[in-house]
Amino acid sequence: MDNEQKKKDQKDNQEVEGLDEETLFVVSQTFKALSDPTRIRILHLLCEQEMSVNQIADTLELRQSTVSHQLRFLKNLRLVKYRRAGTTLFYSHDDEHVINVLQQTINHALHH
Ligand SMILES: [Zn+2]
Repeated sequence: MDNEQKKKDQKDNQEVEGLDEETLFVVSQTFKALSDPTRIRILHLLCEQEMSVNQIADTLELRQSTVSHQLRFLKNLRLVKYRRAGTTLFYSHDDEHVINVLQQTINHALHH
């Protein structure tokens, strides 16, 4: 096998093996985050504005404990962040890529 062929095979192998384990883990966790209707609603709300737990709970008619629980999940994946103002935490989204995926997927759902 000549060198060119060897190089090409190595490149093909990389493309086949592709994603390393950590990347795969993060990607699957990200889709997991987006696989829950409540988390989708929260993230969608935070696309446009920052909101407190209270405001999110009121707007979506959810219990505060439910909202807090889901925000913790999203925070662990660094999909949301918060800013403290006195005793209130204001949440906003923290990842443009994932918001884009969400918006693309909503567009996908709407064209069916
Ligand atoms: Zn589509």
